Amino acid sequence: MKYVDVLVAGAGPAGSQAALTVAQAGYSVALLEKRPEVGQPVRCAEGVSEKWLLKHTGVEKTWIDAEVKGAVLRSPDGNKAVMEYAEKGYILNRARFDRYLAWRAADSGAFLLTCAAVTKIDPCEEFFIVKTQHSTHQEIRATLLILADGIESRLAPQLGIPTVLKPHDIEFCLQYTLGGIAYDEGYVEMIGGNEIAPGGYAWIFPKGEKKANVGLGLLGGRSLPGLNAQFFLDRFVARRFPDASIIRTVAGAVSASEPLNKMCGEGFMIVGDAARLANPLTGAGIGNALESGTLAGQTAVRALAAGKRNKEFLEDYQHDLMKSVGHVSKKFYRIKEPFVKFSDTDINRMIQVASQIDPSRMTVAGLLEAAFKENKAVLSLIRKAFFS
Ligand SMILES: Cc1cc2nc3c(=O)[nH]c(=O)nc-3n(C[C@H](O)[C@H](O)[C@H](O)COP(=O)(O)OP(=O)(O)OC[C@H]3O[C@@H](n4cnc5c(N)ncnc54)[C@H](O)[C@@H]3O)c2cc1C
Repeated sequence: MKYVDVLVAGAGPAGSQAALTVAQAGYSVALLEKRPEVGQPVRCAEGVSEKWLLKHTGVEKTWIDAEVKGAVLRSPDGNKAVMEYAEKGYILNRARFDRYLAWRAADSGAFLLTCAAVTKIDPCEEFFIVKTQHSTHQEIRATLLILADGIESRLAPQLGIPTVLKPHDIEFCLQYTLGGIAYDEGYVEMIGGNEIAPGGYAWIFPKGEKKANVGLGLLGGRSLPGLNAQFFLDRFVARRFPDASIIRTVAGAVSASEPLNKMCGEGFMIVGDAARLANPLTGAGIGNALESGTLAGQTAVRALAAGKRNKEFLEDYQHDLMKSVGHVSKKFYRIKEPFVKFSDTDINRMIQVASQIDPSRMTVAGLLEAAFKENKAVLSLIRKAFFS
């Protein structure tokens, strides 16, 4: 049986980043991915802010499809507000990006295995025995485990951490990559409205060369028989891009919840979407996945160096993560709650107010302030979330 210091389950951005961090410190690490090819199929609109790439990966032209300078926010009445980003935004080629991250970890010494779904975790006194579906490595022994199995997150419950999401804490998404469309490729566009995407929003993310990821998310509990994500997306596309080719279809879910209360236990840590780290308001999760993978990897390295694997030691990871992105995510969650109850009139008013702001000075905080102009409690939350 193979023995490693750390086993990482799931080779998305969170898992690959964790494996890289451990491998670079000279410890043995296995990175197990259930799919035959890392990064495929893509389940993402692929937008990410430059700051996360500069911090964790650098920027490689081979996996960037488009660069954007801002966002157009559109209300149901067609009015728009423009936000120029302070830093660049990128639309990734996620298939290549995820493969790059996993292969980079492998190049640094991680033992990467595809077709290797982790099925069962048996905790022992000083290690885990991890059962997999891989043809030759059916059992691997690991001192530490990092669970990076994404939104489905089936592994944490085996170790006593419940990850089931409440219906109103999940967005069901459908996206088409459209070809042959004419639109402003310098901006991402987000469109709100209960007729467009109840409890969520529609997006248009440029992919370059007249292509774009066009999709939407519906809050769980808001879709009715026949009125599901496909109904809303088909209607949106028929109105906005009636002659477009559909060159790729992506279905998936994003958590719109708070981060897990417990992200670690005896010998293990949970990262990325599995720890419910996607932004509950926007659904963006790539940045937090990279951040959590790095922090969990660093904690694993410190634990191995100290010969510790107890929960109290690994709680450093949760502490560092909450300080870095978790507390802000919790505040976003509290803002999300009133936000998803907005009527179309509220959204029209918000964009109307926001459209008066100079695009170069407009921020997410500014937009939310416009949204909650008359709600002092939420306004104070926004100010705390962004300015403290
Ligand atoms: C439609 C849609 C659009 C999105 N758009 C954006 C966006 O524009 N920007 C953004 O920042 N975020 C976006 N997100 C969210 C983003 O995709 C995730 O937050 C991000 O991928 C999380 O990374 P991760 O590594 O935690 O999980 P994942 O990327 O989901 O990786 C988890 C990996 O674990 C593997 N796995 C699962 N179970 C097992 C197992 N038992 N054994 C081994 N391997 C396993 C999976 O196959 C997968 O490769 C979007 C999500 C969806 C669904």
